[in-house]
Amino acid sequence: MRHRFPVVFLAATLLLAWFPGFAQEKRGLPADGRESENTGNPHPKDDGTRVSVLGYHEFSASLAPSQMRIRTSTFRKQMESLKSLRLPVISLNDFLAWKRGTKFIAPRSVMITIDDGWKSVYTDAFPILKEFNFPFTVYLYKNYVDGGGRALTTSMIREMQQHGCTIGSHSVSHPFPGTVKYHARKGETAYLTFLQKEFGESKRFLEERFGQKVTTYAYPGGYFNEAMYPVAAEYDYRYLFTVLPGKIRRGLDNRRLPRYIIHGNSDLHFEQATTFKALRGAEALTGAVVQTTPHPVQPEPGSRIESRLPVINVDLSGVESLDPDSIVMRVSGFGKVDHHYDPDSSQLKWTVNRRLRHRVCEVNVQWRLEGRTKYESPMRWSFLIEREAAYQVGAGE
Ligand SMILES: [Zn+2]
Repeated sequence: MRHRFPVVFLAATLLLAWFPGFAQEKRGLPADGRESENTGNPHPKDDGTRVSVLGYHEFSASLAPSQMRIRTSTFRKQMESLKSLRLPVISLNDFLAWKRGTKFIAPRSVMITIDDGWKSVYTDAFPILKEFNFPFTVYLYKNYVDGGGRALTTSMIREMQQHGCTIGSHSVSHPFPGTVKYHARKGETAYLTFLQKEFGESKRFLEERFGQKVTTYAYPGGYFNEAMYPVAAEYDYRYLFTVLPGKIRRGLDNRRLPRYIIHGNSDLHFEQATTFKALRGAEALTGAVVQTTPHPVQPEPGSRIESRLPVINVDLSGVESLDPDSIVMRVSGFGKVDHHYDPDSSQLKWTVNRRLRHRVCEVNVQWRLEGRTKYESPMRWSFLIEREAAYQVGAGE
């Protein structure tokens, strides 16, 4: 009996979360169509269309690639593969019209976004995007526009606007989660003032400077929480993008839209973004890079998991004449690990013993067959850690 109260409480909380109209009434706002759009109204209905939003940061022909910086040549290859896969790249305006339910788009579409406002957007990505005639959106934060060094300038942004570039807000100061939480601890009023500045001042600045309405926002570092929703609505932001990978369907909550952040040092997200399941009347589309393993593994290749201490498991029952002593397992960030192999079930296991710190975890397993001196070709795969906390390390600038 003692647990019943919390369960009821939880259910009530969920109900409130699902009926945004309630919160609006409390704030004295009419629950009209416009507001309901803001708060992730489940209408209009799913039309089967799926959109992958790609999120880039910096580009370079010479600097080493990282999560947040991609080689210009890799970016070009990715644009080429979008073209060869016949995936239409849509503009932000088309995306918004589709999301509102006033326009049809191709059942599998891609949208390109670029965060922060690096100069290399203009020098490296823009010529390629122009060549392919792909529209794109840059999410700018006020303090970095004309910031000197590697920052975009007003005139570069204005020139790009003439050629398919739309702008959106990425806050004023690009606060990372630690900064946001610091302001949250200063009390409700101080926190509200902080959020109002980040959302409101960036919008005012961008609209004045670039003469375009700004109704979309990309959360800096991907960090968001519910306190931000009413502030975003107050400044008429209707569509807010996260860094949680996934396809967008029409009914999805507009306040936390998924995006595939394309890392410069891993193909995984681009592959996932360009992989589409079979739909009514449309066959499955395999992504630009395919990850498969010859033997069953857990977590599955390309999957997203919530635990940062997962059990990694490989079913080696399909390997004949395996030499168990030859097995080597490597996990990114851990090197060679002390796995356990059970010869009866042919299961190879290792439990991650220190929280995974990166979003992508790569596993490599090798073995020899009995009587052989050479190793079989290694089995490699990777999976993703679904934790916004994983983004706090090295996310953007
Ligand atoms: Zn950023």
